[in-house]
Amino acid sequence: MDPRRKAAHEVIQMLNESGYEAYLVGGCVRDLLLDRIPNDYDIATSATPTEVQKLFSRSFATGIEHGTVTVLWDQEIVEVTTFRTEGFYEDHRRPSGVQFVRSLRDDLQRRDFTINAMAMDLDGNLYDYFDGHADLESGIIRAVGTAKERFQEDALRMIRAARFSAQFSFSIDPLTQEAMVCCKQDVKYLSVERIMTEMDKILGSPTPHMGFQVLLQTELFHHMPPFTGWQWDQERVGERLTHIPSNCQRAGKWVWFLLAFSTTADSVESRTRECKSSKKDSQLFQSIMEIQAEWTEVKEPDEKWMKPILLRYGWEPVVESYCIQQALYNETGCKWEQLRDWWEEMPVRKVTDLSIQGNELISVVGKKPGPWVKGTLSELCQSVALGEIPNQKEILLKVGGQIATKYS
Ligand code: ATP
Ligand code: MG
Repeated sequence: MDPRRKAAHEVIQMLNESGYEAYLVGGCVRDLLLDRIPNDYDIATSATPTEVQKLFSRSFATGIEHGTVTVLWDQEIVEVTTFRTEGFYEDHRRPSGVQFVRSLRDDLQRRDFTINAMAMDLDGNLYDYFDGHADLESGIIRAVGTAKERFQEDALRMIRAARFSAQFSFSIDPLTQEAMVCCKQDVKYLSVERIMTEMDKILGSPTPHMGFQVLLQTELFHHMPPFTGWQWDQERVGERLTHIPSNCQRAGKWVWFLLAFSTTADSVESRTRECKSSKKDSQLFQSIMEIQAEWTEVKEPDEKWMKPILLRYGWEPVVESYCIQQALYNETGCKWEQLRDWWEEMPVRKVTDLSIQGNELISVVGKKPGPWVKGTLSELCQSVALGEIPNQKEILLKVGGQIATKYS
């Protein structure tokens, strides 16, 4: 058994033995019924946060205002949340407060969709008050209760609906979809960070086009920050997003997304900053964009063009560009096997694969260290990779000496 599931079961058992109700709830129950490996195992219990903390010595209150206590069990982290209902929603985002309750049903009722509103006990019995299991089997995302009210409480739920549609290839129940159209403008109150967490999941899902179809059909997308501030041609962007390729990894899908808005390599940094991407992701997107732009120009890349690109950017961004090229133009100008062979046959792939190091070059050339060292090594790396010279110390030092004279 998954060690996280085992830990969750033992925590539930401990709560049960102390006289409290405790269940697996939410996403993990849905995923177990779908035969998928859950992201996390959440537990809901009738015990109050103080009671939970008393019972587990290795525990700390992580979201006490939401009733969540984090329990350390073996090497695992298990989140235990007290049954609760939510108070007023004042700003379409967060409840003003929560009330702890002793009933499982009340706790499940506050959850967003029927497929996420089921609980399971230690014996595998399902607690399914809103027909979530039937919806799971028919592939339907349906709000718990009155959809419009639920979306007015928390607008993020509408974007989550699109996300679950992308992740599971499910459709949205017509009444739920109608409510999304009705409440679409409320997404403007959401923070970019919360929206991006969902966007990231849509872009990393097996069927991102389904998620975008939902966002575009309901016009939620037209009101989502930060995209409302981007100039975009609805028809073209819609067309591109609903044809998002399925072979790209997440980074490639982000680039496809940016390309849909006619983003170029120069503007990728400002756009990704608006989307709160990490620096690392932003650089990866930038590399893919740069390769993609050059690839489009050369059309039929040969070894002499591709190997330096592979050296400069590495394998991952090139593969992503390949997928994007294929999806955009239906051809890449070179076969996949050919690309892989070029990568595999290169005797070196980075400067540190060379048989000499910078200090050896410096002592042979007899010049003060400076930018010339990096420049010379990278030229040598390219020559070795292209098979022009062998990766042998004496030869590298000799050729390196000649190259170094170019640098003042
Ligand atoms: P994932 O696979 O991404 O973890 P998940 O369904 O588990 O998906 P979480 O964000 O981990 O999503 O939330 C856990 C559970 O909490 C959900 O299954 C749902 O029951 C409930 N939930 C989460 N966010 C909301 C929300 N905005 N409104 C109502 N219920 C929510
Ligand atoms: Mg989860």
